[in-house]
Amino acid sequence: MKRCVERFLIVTPRIVSPAGVSPRIHQPFGSIIVLTEAKRCGFDVILFDSAVEGLKKNILDSSYNPREIENLEGINYWKTGLRIEEIITRVASINPDVIGLSCSNVSERNEVAKLATALKKSLSSIPLVLGGYEASLWYKEILGNTQFPIDEIPAIDFVVVGPGQPVINNLLLYLSDSTKYDLPKGVATRINNKVVFRGLPRFDYNRYSVADFTLLPKIKIVGRLKPLDFYSYVGNPHAGKLEIILGSKNISYFPITTSYGCGFNCSFCDADKKLRRYKLENVIRMIDAFESLYGIDYIDFMDNNFGGGNQDSRFLAFDILAQIKKSGYQIGFSNGLTFESMAREDHRLIRQFADYGNVRHIAFPCENGNDRILRMIRKPHDIELVKKTLVFSSNVLQKTNREGFFIGGFPKTSGKLAETPQELENTYHFIRYCLEKGFLHQAIFLTLSPVTKEYRFLWRKLYPNASFEHCLFSRKTGIWPYPNVLLDEMHEKVKLINEQLGRLVTRKL
Ligand code: SF4
Repeated sequence: MKRCVERFLIVTPRIVSPAGVSPRIHQPFGSIIVLTEAKRCGFDVILFDSAVEGLKKNILDSSYNPREIENLEGINYWKTGLRIEEIITRVASINPDVIGLSCSNVSERNEVAKLATALKKSLSSIPLVLGGYEASLWYKEILGNTQFPIDEIPAIDFVVVGPGQPVINNLLLYLSDSTKYDLPKGVATRINNKVVFRGLPRFDYNRYSVADFTLLPKIKIVGRLKPLDFYSYVGNPHAGKLEIILGSKNISYFPITTSYGCGFNCSFCDADKKLRRYKLENVIRMIDAFESLYGIDYIDFMDNNFGGGNQDSRFLAFDILAQIKKSGYQIGFSNGLTFESMAREDHRLIRQFADYGNVRHIAFPCENGNDRILRMIRKPHDIELVKKTLVFSSNVLQKTNREGFFIGGFPKTSGKLAETPQELENTYHFIRYCLEKGFLHQAIFLTLSPVTKEYRFLWRKLYPNASFEHCLFSRKTGIWPYPNVLLDEMHEKVKLINEQLGRLVTRKL
């Protein structure tokens, strides 16, 4: 079949958050780099961020409410952004030849399914391509190979599996003339009711690393020379309330990813298991590109394991830090740093941070207060290592906001007994100890979200029809091994101890 393919649009869905919690709205980096590559190959590309468009509409017309409350099986969620029918109207006016939809995490599955269904109904001749981390992991189910009907999105024609950059040009060519081009590697589809996927293409990360940040929505701020990207303007990114950490407003926030994956294999985390890094010159090009358009006040590293990997990988991490220090940027690590990487070489990473003095925020992924649970979930640290690292950091990084993360609610994992109520209590005592001793400034307690395959199947079997929103936001998961009320109490107790000690919690998850 032949068709004219010139304009490629990627639509990101509305943002979902539990009712009462401001949604974190961050740059759709995956969509941007795919659009960048399509643009480089000669296509006309557009990003349409449904959440941002709703917020922009509210700025122009304050009577417009960009937030809808949706009740799903008795639980309220906020959906922030344009309504589905508004998105359809706007997409139709853009007149794309191919529509990409992004699904980067499980909370977006329901929104993406509704949006795809509505798009297919109104614009039935336009191919719908789904991409994003969540879509990659669950492409078979999305294309119909599942025992749970809620998994499937019949309106989706193709799913990009894995990184989209090495795939997008070939896919758009295939869609322009399927008699001339083959279905490319890295793309799954349905043929005769069967899911067809021919494997992943070769991918050189460094060939595609510099994103075209002109594609980001932006806003002019009075008194500011350069525009602000809209995500910085909204000011509730992954790092949380930056104005509290940095003490100023309208901060130009640049979330950077200098590596992919982790190298470890924790049971609850769906980060890619292999750690791969961008070259230093590409990291610098990314920073320079963002700086020239918007200016940068703060760089937040989104890497899963910034200081980890082998010796070469570590050299690169230290080179990046040195270069950033030279440029004078304030930085943070809201995605956390592994304790293994912080403790290695006599806490070399922490000592380097202390020497440079530019690290404003570190998330410490302590996870749990029990060695048995840490072993069970395959966490690459134990309590002793956590304590040593926190003590060392609190001595040399006094001005860095040190935020501790803890998780409870682990079911039986790899044949090991589930977490007990006593172990949950131990975690509370450990949190209290770390806060009272001043090893941490603030602590966040989370309940396990069953996002990995290991836990997701368990959840889906218990709740075959439950909305996906419950999965990420840990509502109605049922896989927790003891009454939910214990976890609710734990949330309250951790909140209280932060308050009693006068600690500001800078993000709500
Ligand atoms: S160490 Fe952290 S990023 Fe790596 S797999 Fe474990 S939880 Fe995920």
